[in-house]
Amino acid sequence: MSSNGLNSSMPDEKGYFGEYGGSFIPPQLQVIMDEITDSYLKIKEDSNFLEELQDLYTHYVGRPSPIFFAKNLSKKYGANIYFKREDLNHTGAHKINHCLGEALLAKKMGKKKLIAETGAGQHGVALATAAALVGLECDIYMGEVDIAKEYPNVVRMHILGAKVIPATHGRKTLKEAVDAAFEGYLKDPVTQFYAIGSVVGPHPFPMMVRDFQSIVGKEARIQFQEMTGKLPDNIVACVGGGSNAMGIFSAFLNDDVNLYGVEPAGRNLEVMGEHAATMTKGKVGVMHGFKSYMLADEQGEPEEVYSVASGLDYPSVGPQHSYLKDIKRVNYVTINDEEAMETFFGLSKIEGIIPAIESAHAVAYAIKLAKEKPNSTILVNLSGRGDKDIDFAVANYGKRFGVEI
Ligand SMILES: *Cc1c(COP(=O)(O)O)cnc(C)c1O
Repeated sequence: MSSNGLNSSMPDEKGYFGEYGGSFIPPQLQVIMDEITDSYLKIKEDSNFLEELQDLYTHYVGRPSPIFFAKNLSKKYGANIYFKREDLNHTGAHKINHCLGEALLAKKMGKKKLIAETGAGQHGVALATAAALVGLECDIYMGEVDIAKEYPNVVRMHILGAKVIPATHGRKTLKEAVDAAFEGYLKDPVTQFYAIGSVVGPHPFPMMVRDFQSIVGKEARIQFQEMTGKLPDNIVACVGGGSNAMGIFSAFLNDDVNLYGVEPAGRNLEVMGEHAATMTKGKVGVMHGFKSYMLADEQGEPEEVYSVASGLDYPSVGPQHSYLKDIKRVNYVTINDEEAMETFFGLSKIEGIIPAIESAHAVAYAIKLAKEKPNSTILVNLSGRGDKDIDFAVANYGKRFGVEI
């Protein structure tokens, strides 16, 4: 990681990617954000920090994650499809990459506690893991409804030593958890560190989380060339907030490689509230402290969003994605619930890999692309494994896709 470090020309020093990003927060918090930015800019040049992080990636996460040539899938659909196996990481997804980075930074800044909100509990578990490892306290805010629905992740967080704080107002899901976490943060932004879970939020988080995830793209670029002698023709990743996609895209932005970000079309792309396709259907505005495409009502308040993949149902998107959409460097496309679930079961049967439903969106699009571009190479970022999704998948879709127990 040290050779090309964690560097990139974007964003500018105020955190803008073109017109997107920035920092729209109360002045008392801006002071804290500026401190985090300063510490991060220093630490990302510090070879001790970079070595410590790389050592954890190697020995704790199990990096580099392999690239796997999906021979059976390729044969069936006519292109050469490869997976970057982030599903094989410790804790089962790419999120551990940025959680470790944030936890180490917080520790070096002398913070005592990591806090975050979580929806399905994936970010909460990854952060609780990182907190346990580096020796920080951890408070995870979670809606009461989600606590009941995602119980195994709640148990994991408790075992890992985190405190799970229920959000009990409103609909008692992710939005309320964000409110509660923000309130908790404002009570003491000095000793607490709010570890944002994707390439979203005010500057420096979109930059910092992307930099921590860029390990995925850096490894993939080398591995793919070693395997095939070339760069891939196409790269596909799912986009919730956009961290796994930015992680892999970041190493290929200056190459002649087609990039595809897959948004969730949910149950119905034409009905607000039934999807979370932010860039496909949204407009530009400010939400959660940054400017980007978003799904908002007339008053600019976040709309209800939905996807069968709870990791993808976010009403905004990382600002760099909005920029990459406008300059047409990345194609943003959609996959609906039905297509994702068909791929969830299909991939499991044909390759013996149960993908996270989020990742199944990316694979489903790769299959479409394979039919359009036969004989091309397609690298998919397989962002996570599907262990967390098996009960839900069988209960709700098993019958349709031939799995009855
Ligand atoms: C959280 C999650 C996502 C979505 O987050 P991004 O920031 O868009 O990457 C995708 N896949 C998995 C497995 C996840 O857990």
